Amino acid sequence: MSTNKESNSLNTRAVYDITKFTHLDYPDHLACIVWLSGCNMRCDYCYNKDIVFAKEGSHTFVDVLEFLKSRVGLLEAVVLSGGEATMHDLEEFCIAIKDLGFKIKLDTNGTDYKQIKKLIDLGLLDFVALDYKAPKEKFTQITHSNKYEEFSKTLDLLLDRDFDFEARTTLHSDLLSEDDINNIIQDLKRRGYKNNYYIQSFLDTETNIANLQAPTTTFDKSQLLDELNIIWR
Ligand code: SF4
Repeated sequence: MSTNKESNSLNTRAVYDITKFTHLDYPDHLACIVWLSGCNMRCDYCYNKDIVFAKEGSHTFVDVLEFLKSRVGLLEAVVLSGGEATMHDLEEFCIAIKDLGFKIKLDTNGTDYKQIKKLIDLGLLDFVALDYKAPKEKFTQITHSNKYEEFSKTLDLLLDRDFDFEARTTLHSDLLSEDDINNIIQDLKRRGYKNNYYIQSFLDTETNIANLQAPTTTFDKSQLLDELNIIWR
């Protein structure tokens, strides 16, 4: 993981891997996914722990740009994911991606408000998928970080700008209850969020950070408030 955000070098080996094609990750777009190494959270259910704990990636930004040059006219967009993409200074990379004519979607936990605001101000982002990890009271327990306030600022920023984004939560029902999800729904609604709210069920893999098993607690979807349109993934 690069910890030197001041370094703006496109030669930084920040990229853990590239998924060369997806039509699922960016709604209505053919895209590739750039997986950036490192993360400032340690979510219990995270199944990308190899990426999260990676000290360095296998590819530089330049490598990705070379790949993208070969995809001009074939792909429409680039998804910046991870790990947490904003662990790295993305400005120069995003400018170069835009120069090639691609749209950019950012998957983020929202904790680098300053960088996200800058990228939006510069017109470098087209879509954001923002993780709403947990209600404030459970945020640290689930993410092992104390960054709720930064996340909250980013959420408000996206709403204030009327920016095109989706809010999403990963659900492990031993960690988040129906009340917790309802708290999130009410908070999103109160702040003025009108888009779909995506809930992704925990992927039962053996490689998640906390070695979680499949939930033992039943989650009753019928108890959820209908204040937002919920899409289950
Ligand atoms: S799930 Fe959590 S730990 Fe894993 S990459 Fe996302 S923010 Fe980081």
